[in-house]
Amino acid sequence: MTFELSEEILAVRDAARKFARNEVLPRIAEDERNHVFPEDVVRKMGAMGLFGCPIPETYGGSDLGFLAHAVVTEEISKVSGSLRAAFNMQTMGTAREILQFGTEDQKEAYVSRLVNAEILGCIGITEPNAGSDVGSLKTRAEKKGDRYLLSGSKTWITYAQVADLGLIYAYTDPTRRYKGMSAFLVDLHQDGVSRGPAVQKLGWNACPTGELFFDQVEVPAENLLGCEEGRGFEFCMAGLNNTRLTAAAGAVGVSQGLIDEAIKYAKEREQFGKPIGRFQMVQEELARMVVETEAARLMTYRCAMQKDEGLLHNALETSMAKYYASDVASRVADGALRILGAYGYSSEYPVERLLREAKLPQILEGSANILKMVIAMDALGYRKANR
Ligand SMILES: Cc1cc2nc3c(=O)[nH]c(=O)nc-3n(C[C@H](O)[C@H](O)[C@H](O)COP(=O)(O)OP(=O)(O)OC[C@H]3O[C@@H](n4cnc5c(N)ncnc54)[C@H](O)[C@@H]3O)c2cc1C
Repeated sequence: MTFELSEEILAVRDAARKFARNEVLPRIAEDERNHVFPEDVVRKMGAMGLFGCPIPETYGGSDLGFLAHAVVTEEISKVSGSLRAAFNMQTMGTAREILQFGTEDQKEAYVSRLVNAEILGCIGITEPNAGSDVGSLKTRAEKKGDRYLLSGSKTWITYAQVADLGLIYAYTDPTRRYKGMSAFLVDLHQDGVSRGPAVQKLGWNACPTGELFFDQVEVPAENLLGCEEGRGFEFCMAGLNNTRLTAAAGAVGVSQGLIDEAIKYAKEREQFGKPIGRFQMVQEELARMVVETEAARLMTYRCAMQKDEGLLHNALETSMAKYYASDVASRVADGALRILGAYGYSSEYPVERLLREAKLPQILEGSANILKMVIAMDALGYRKANR
């Protein structure tokens, strides 16, 4: 066990940090205000190789691993949640899942194009009546000869308006509940696919989210993920176990971004004749923010390192990292707001935007309650998390 990052990871972290500072920070507040998706920035991130860390070189990645992925995600998330979303759309929820479960043809067709951001991906699990209860989804795929006819709708889909490819979960046999679900690689530019308008939301406004509708969409049988029916729920849970690592790293990043802003402000702002950073109660707040963020970072890195060592189904450690890092981000946001006072409430300062971003990880990719259930069921011995 080591607490030092390798030379390679430090190099990719520094490249991501520089990119975030030079290419994201100068424009992101305006893009958020105007609800503009910075597609050119996502394409550049792909061209730079930021999405390719946990992907082998043969499929367009850098093979630097999950820890590198977490570190890079954290750097981008420090300045923008909207752009951190891309690490799941291009890598963990799509490319990585195809790599783990796809056929050789599917890997060759999609993985490198996703990680290079030549095409944009999305993940279609959630439906109007299927949120935490993934098994209750209603989208159907019926086999007709050498293709499936896909019908149904998805909601809250990140990149719904811009994605080229969707990894869409649907029932091929609804009578078998979890065992009847399958996953499909769907070309979103074809007949029968339509997209709703972007949802108005609290944060991530530079990242479009919305509905996808499928009306008898023809999906070739070779686009059934892994070319196997009935494994969709298993793929979905394995995919979430990867996307939750990105969410944890994103939560650590937003916490760090808030801490950086709070420190800068505490040193500049003077009251009662001295910088507010000299007051013990401000120091206490800051100390808690720093320590909790560091603890969340260590849990996130451990989870990433386990995956690098081949323990991909580490649902317990992933749930713990994601649950804890998300809660910490929310608390750190409260602390940063207290330290900045009125200026924390102002849209002129990044804390207001980062605070809105810090609330999201508790909902996405498995709510806090769902993750606590996984952790407690394991602790009580009712259901092992790492199966
Ligand atoms: C900005 C944004 C982007 C998103 N992007 C995507 C995407 O790209 N693809 C996608 O498929 N989905 C996406 N989602 C959907 C997201 O994954 C869901 O919001 C999440 O799974 C929770 O579902 P829900 O919001 O319907 O909440 P619900 O499941 O309705 O839960 C509401 C509350 O009830 C609690 N609850 C539910 N069941 C239990 C239980 N058994 N025990 C205790 N408490 C429980 C939850 O913890 C929560 O607090 C996105 C959501 C947002 C906000």
